Amino acid sequence: MCAQSAEIHEGGCFCGAIRYRTVGKPDRVSLCSCEWCTKRTGSAFGISVYFREDQVTFSGDDWTTFRLTSDAGRWLETRFCGNCGSTVGWTLEFLPGHCGIAGGAFDNPKFWHTPERYGFARSKPDWLEIPDGLHVFQGMPGSPNE
Ligand SMILES: [Zn+2]
Ligand SMILES: [Zn+2]
Repeated sequence: MCAQSAEIHEGGCFCGAIRYRTVGKPDRVSLCSCEWCTKRTGSAFGISVYFREDQVTFSGDDWTTFRLTSDAGRWLETRFCGNCGSTVGWTLEFLPGHCGIAGGAFDNPKFWHTPERYGFARSKPDWLEIPDGLHVFQGMPGSPNE
């Protein structure tokens, strides 16, 4: 891989205590209205930008992790700022070797990443229209009963 051409993006929590830097393009960008994403963000959907772990570097020391187990029995672990509470990243048991980054936590240009899929569309608000071109799953992306 040519290091000169790899794109670099940075972001962090609201107060700036936790920062991250990503190198290259994400493997996957998903929007999702599952309960975890809506609770985590306090919003109608989460934006998850997934990179391989070796593409992401975190800095800062005031962070906390929280692990919970999903309805499907798999763990999710968030990383958030112990000072301001922003969740900036997470790891998922079902995506080994990857790191999710909160899509709204990037510095400008903020939304440089383009989503490809929408998960748990059955839980989205009625007033929210999913843009054309996204692969829509009613439940978990990749599950047989999409
Ligand atoms: Zn913070
Ligand atoms: Zn979700």
